Amino acid sequence: MNNPEDPTFREKIANSQGPSMFSMIGSFARDLKEYIKQGAPNVTTEDYVQRLEACDSCEHILKPQMRCGLCGCLLEHKAKWKTTTCPDKPTRWKEQILDGQGQENNNTNTSNKA
Ligand code: SF4
Repeated sequence: MNNPEDPTFREKIANSQGPSMFSMIGSFARDLKEYIKQGAPNVTTEDYVQRLEACDSCEHILKPQMRCGLCGCLLEHKAKWKTTTCPDKPTRWKEQILDGQGQENNNTNTSNKA
């Protein structure tokens, strides 16, 4: 349905609300560059789930494509990368601490736990 291999995928994205394709590509490229630069650190599974839950209840989500309507990023990837942030003001995601040691580290910030 929303498979990028689908020939109508680009048309569906172009017709949806949210950032333009150029804006989405630029945002993704910036996020990917920073993710790699920092050693490809991922959030914990718990934080990943919390991020996706926040997105699921967010007014900006483009659910058919599972993209953020503000930055255009694919949430499946954006939510996993420790270097990314929610672009909403105020942010809807818990703050992450980057320690520069890549995927071996887990976030120990528990300030937003229920
Ligand atoms: S990243 Fe933030 S603004 Fe975008 S859909 Fe998720 S919660 Fe909403």
